[in-house]
Amino acid sequence: MRAVTVEPGVANSLSLIQDQPEPAPEEGAVLVEALSVGICGTDHEIIAGLYGEAPPGADRLVIGHESLGRVLEDPTGTLQPGDLVAGIVRHPDPVPCSNCAAGEWDMCRNGLFTEHGIKALAGFARDRWRIQPHFAVKLDPALSSVGVLLEPTSVVAKAWDHIERIGHRAEWQPQTVLVTGAGPIGLLAALLATQRGFTVHVLDRTTGGPKAELVAALGATYHTVSVNDLQVEPDVVVECTGAPTVVLDVMCKAAPTGIVCLAGVSSGGRRINFDAGALNRELVLENNVVFGSVNANRRHWDLAAQALAQADQNWLSSLITRRMPVERYAEAYTAGPDDIKVVLDFAS
Ligand code: BGC
Repeated sequence: MRAVTVEPGVANSLSLIQDQPEPAPEEGAVLVEALSVGICGTDHEIIAGLYGEAPPGADRLVIGHESLGRVLEDPTGTLQPGDLVAGIVRHPDPVPCSNCAAGEWDMCRNGLFTEHGIKALAGFARDRWRIQPHFAVKLDPALSSVGVLLEPTSVVAKAWDHIERIGHRAEWQPQTVLVTGAGPIGLLAALLATQRGFTVHVLDRTTGGPKAELVAALGATYHTVSVNDLQVEPDVVVECTGAPTVVLDVMCKAAPTGIVCLAGVSSGGRRINFDAGALNRELVLENNVVFGSVNANRRHWDLAAQALAQADQNWLSSLITRRMPVERYAEAYTAGPDDIKVVLDFAS
């Protein structure tokens, strides 16, 4: 069968192989036929040879961690043939650490977790994959064209879950939310913010393309000014750019008792001059919280499935700006200027 693979650590080793073995029964009882995989910045980093790890003993890694598929068989009876499913990306470490032992593998403490298509576990960009029932998330059948957005939605569902847990350290009545970055993660973070009834502002530097319209369709306000020029004092910031100056600026922008969730991953290596003392003073005197958030556990995937089912399906469809058949994988994995979410389709 077909599989999109890389040699981790080797730049531009991306290739579509035709003779990938069928998934081994040890991978899980649920056999799934791939419908599509979504492509994100992590895939681009893996293709550039900057990230990613092959399974033990293998040279190549099947990539793809944003999945959508149809169940072919599940002898455990948990799922039925034909069910629409996505596979959970991260699996707990083998020790397991106290968080992984409690099903909170998104908070793994020893770094020994594995991730489909990223770290030591084959990904979902192959014709068929297997998964254990507990790591398969069933989707509403109405989500067959947009269900591939479940993985990025799980990431923002976790971010919102943690924002709310932190918020409830005291009386908390947030009203205004700022999302920086209008890529898929930023737009989905804004969707979940509007679903919570907040006043939402989204900041991005892009002036053309569909982003402004997508933000307006949520009832949110789109801005292209710098963070410092924004006339908004947000109670919550979800930072999705990873751009160092934006990251630092939003930390200073949050309202007193504000919460800043860092969800964008910076590449590192860029130095900027920064007054750390002034930031410290502001964070302490205003009881602000800045925290990082990555990945998602089963509970977040289920919350994300509900959030997608409640969202406007046309709006979700518009996030997918390019769909390519798997044979055109090289084009799909080449970023285009107006891309929001690019999806690789396996079903013919
Ligand atoms: C994925 C996460 C993963 C992270 C780090 C992201 O692109 O969405 O599930 O934990 O990369 O590997």
